[in-house]
Amino acid sequence: MENGKTRRKVTLAREVGFCFGVKRAINMTRQSLAERNSVFILGDLVHNKRVTDELEARGLQKVSDIDDKKSGTMIIRAHGLPKAKIQEARARGLEIVDATCPIVLRAQEAAKTLEERGCQVVIIGDRNHAEIKGVLGALERPALVIDSLEELREAKASHKLLRKVGVIFQTTHALELCREIINELVFMCKEVQIINTICRPVQNRQDDALELASKVDLMLVVGSRTSANTVELAALCRHHNPFTMHIQSAEELQIEDFAWAEHVGIASGLSTPEDLVEGVKRKILSYDGPIQMDLRPDPKSYVPAGAAHH
Ligand code: SF4
Repeated sequence: MENGKTRRKVTLAREVGFCFGVKRAINMTRQSLAERNSVFILGDLVHNKRVTDELEARGLQKVSDIDDKKSGTMIIRAHGLPKAKIQEARARGLEIVDATCPIVLRAQEAAKTLEERGCQVVIIGDRNHAEIKGVLGALERPALVIDSLEELREAKASHKLLRKVGVIFQTTHALELCREIINELVFMCKEVQIINTICRPVQNRQDDALELASKVDLMLVVGSRTSANTVELAALCRHHNPFTMHIQSAEELQIEDFAWAEHVGIASGLSTPEDLVEGVKRKILSYDGPIQMDLRPDPKSYVPAGAAHH
């Protein structure tokens, strides 16, 4: 890797672009927009502005509540929706197109099964995430949502944790974090039942991206900064390679960000369109300047230029 060498290598993670649940939801929405008149959605279908702009241009209305809706078709996004909201929509006579991902539905079913077995349901995940709200809404009794060891210890100290618990995971959560919490939880309760609800395609992507991150000089994670799974993927990659940048598209990447790297790896979030990833790859390969090892930053003080650091 001497100064003056020009060939730069770029490796994409095995799977980039939308996951199958997001693809399915986008296709169902496009189809509804082609067939029906008033189609709306609570929140964004995916955390990606380009995709939501395209769907809005086709007529999709984004609403924050269904209060003023008396007719039309409501799309349920891939993360799902609490049961009460779906019932409310039905009671108002709204048509429903349910694009909840089958893997998210399975997580809801798993939580119900654990509840029926008499367990206090413990969800390892982010309580503000739409998927978790959907799972909570599927249950009869309140569940405990935990996202860190500190939260678990606090629940134990304040006697919120019961003796018999049933655990599920947010489908997109990192297995490493879940493992840490489970390791401690098993010693806090008398009985712990676990149903692994982590989404396999996500898990495979994470494993693959981490392997790639540990092999390359610079790792790029492409996706929206409002996409939780992209933010999490970038954080995980950073553990394996301090030179990790989270960028939303090629425009955020400056030449000096990668001029020093001989081998660049690229992975993406689950709601990142594939052509955004291809755009990043093209930008790197279209620059045929030398590999400038003298520009390689100090890993200890590295803050990626040209992109916000998360
Ligand atoms: S990440 Fe997995 S669970 Fe979530 S929408 Fe995609 S396929 Fe479904």
